Amino acid sequence: MPFGIYIHIPYCVTKCPYCDFNSYGVGSRFPEKEYTDTILQELELYRNDITNTEISSIFFGGGTPSLFNPKSIEGIISRIYEITSPASNIEISLEVNPKTADLVQLIGLRSAGISRVSVGVQSFSERKLDFLGRINSAEDSSNILKDIKKAGFENCSMDLMYGIKDETIFEWENDLNKALDFEYPHISAYCLTIEDGTEFGRRYALGKLKVPSDDRLSEFITYTTDFLQDSGYSQYEISNYAKVGSECAHNMLYWKGDSYIGLGAGAHSHLANNNSATWGRRWANLRSPTLYMNSVQEGRKPLDFTEELNREEVVQDKVLMGLRLKEGIDISELEAKFQLNTDMSKIGKLVDEGFLENTKNAFRLTKKGNLLSNAVILKFVEALS
Ligand code: SF4
Repeated sequence: MPFGIYIHIPYCVTKCPYCDFNSYGVGSRFPEKEYTDTILQELELYRNDITNTEISSIFFGGGTPSLFNPKSIEGIISRIYEITSPASNIEISLEVNPKTADLVQLIGLRSAGISRVSVGVQSFSERKLDFLGRINSAEDSSNILKDIKKAGFENCSMDLMYGIKDETIFEWENDLNKALDFEYPHISAYCLTIEDGTEFGRRYALGKLKVPSDDRLSEFITYTTDFLQDSGYSQYEISNYAKVGSECAHNMLYWKGDSYIGLGAGAHSHLANNNSATWGRRWANLRSPTLYMNSVQEGRKPLDFTEELNREEVVQDKVLMGLRLKEGIDISELEAKFQLNTDMSKIGKLVDEGFLENTKNAFRLTKKGNLLSNAVILKFVEALS
C-alpha cells in the first residue's frame, strides 16, 4: 500500500487574493531554521508510527517551499530516510514559485533528493497575473521552466488557471499553447474559485468582483480537456493531465484514500484502516505557524482536531475522489470491501443521462458529468447503502 509524507511550508512572499491555503505573506522574514527544526521534532513524535514503513512519496507543499534553502529540505529528507524505509522508486516533489528560485537553487534541490517539481505559473498573460495578484511575471515563469530542465528535472509540472474576469477562450488558448512550448509531462489546469475568507471572497460578497457564468466556465472546461487531450496528455483526474507514466504519485495517494502523515502548520493526515472496527483516522495540525511551533517544541503533537472515520464517511470520500479519476470506481470492489448493496438502477440512470460512463469494471464521470460533478457524486453516493 502506498504511504506518503506531506510537509507544509506556510510562508509566501505575499498572500494572493484568491488563495485559501494555510499560507502567510511574510516578505523575506520567515523563521526557516526554527521551522525546519520543528518539522524534524514533529517527525520524532511520529517515529513509532512510521519506523521502517515503506514510503512511496514525499511532497513539500505550501505556501512556498521554494523559499527554503535546499540544505533545509535535504535535512528533512535525510531524517525521513533515517526513520522510514523509502521505496526504491520514491517520488519527492516540491512546489516552486517562479519568483523565488533560480538555477543554482534548483541544482541544490536536485542534489537534496527532490525528483519532481511543480511550478505555480498560473498564466503567461500579464493581465491575468496582475488580476491574480501574483508576484511572478510571465518572463519569470519562462525562465524558471527552462532552468528546471537545465537542472536535470524530467518529472515536472506546471499549474495554470482559467476562469479569470473577462478572460476569453483565445487568451486561455494562448496560455495552453505557451505551456506546450516547454514540453512538460504534467499540467494542472484549475478553474479560479472564489473562496470565503479570501480577499476575492470579500470583494465578491460586496459585489465588487464579477466571475464568469457557469455556461462560460463549461466552455473553458470542455476546451481545456479537448486541447490537452489532443496534445497528448491524458486527463487522469478532473484538473490534472499527464503524459503516460508522469501522473503525480503523491496526489494519487490522496485521491485513492491511502495513508499519509502531514507535518507542518495546518497539515492534514490520514491513516486508512481496512477493517470494520475502525475505518481509519484523520487529523489536522494547528494552522498558526507560531502555535504549531510552540506545541511541537513543548513535545506535544500540534493537533487541531482528530477524528475516527465511520464506514459512510470513508465510502463518501472514496466516491468523491474516485469518480474524478480516469480509472473511476469499481463498484464490485467497493461493495465487497464495505459490505454495500448498490441500487444499480440509480447508477444506470446517471449513465443513461450521460453523466457517467462504464469502463471495463468501473464507472467514471463523462465530460458532461465533469461539468456537474458535485451533483453527480451526490447521486452516486445515494445509490450505495
Ligand atoms: S503563492 Fe500559492 S500558496 Fe502562496 S498565497 Fe499565492 S497561491 Fe497561496
